[in-house]
Amino acid sequence: MRIYVDFDDCICETARAFTGIVERMFGITVPYEKVRFFNLKDSFGLTDREYEQLMIEGHRPEVLWSFEETPGASKVLNELIDMGHEVDVITGRPFSSYEDSRKWLDEHGLNRIKLYCLDKYDRNKTFVKSEYNLSLDDYYRMKFDYAIEDSPLAFRFFEHMPELKVMIFDRPWNRDCEITNCNYMHCPDWEFIKSKI
Ligand SMILES: [Mg+2]
Repeated sequence: MRIYVDFDDCICETARAFTGIVERMFGITVPYEKVRFFNLKDSFGLTDREYEQLMIEGHRPEVLWSFEETPGASKVLNELIDMGHEVDVITGRPFSSYEDSRKWLDEHGLNRIKLYCLDKYDRNKTFVKSEYNLSLDDYYRMKFDYAIEDSPLAFRFFEHMPELKVMIFDRPWNRDCEITNCNYMHCPDWEFIKSKI
């Protein structure tokens, strides 16, 4: 089986880290459980300028490297690889943060996983050609059996794979996400995901 895994808020605790950054930079306190929108600008009530500053800060190497691993992620992903599954991380992070993201994976025991960037949220102004920076055409040539993703905004990238099983990694911003497709399921943690693959 080939498995698509999202990076932020599936294998690391990005939104939790961002709540701390927003508090430090702007004095805005929003508890993690109250992060109701995938769009952090809306969740934290930031201006465009503040959001821009937050994104710059949030993508600094030291900040990216400091994100906590989601409990069980590395253990379960390595077990899935040991069982013969192929695991690819498809992240919406910009390709400019590829090397720092790669370093995080390697330092968390995920060196056997390939990392690809895909502009899931239309953030890229320019496209850098690389084996690990996917154009839409590159991405649509890939086929997966399972996908683990927290963001409902990224589900549009699954529409061309009607057989795909989509595991929605439980987060405050996707709890109200209504499931109309029987191939989608809410998953509370990594052990649950493992039991379903
Ligand atoms: Mg994510």
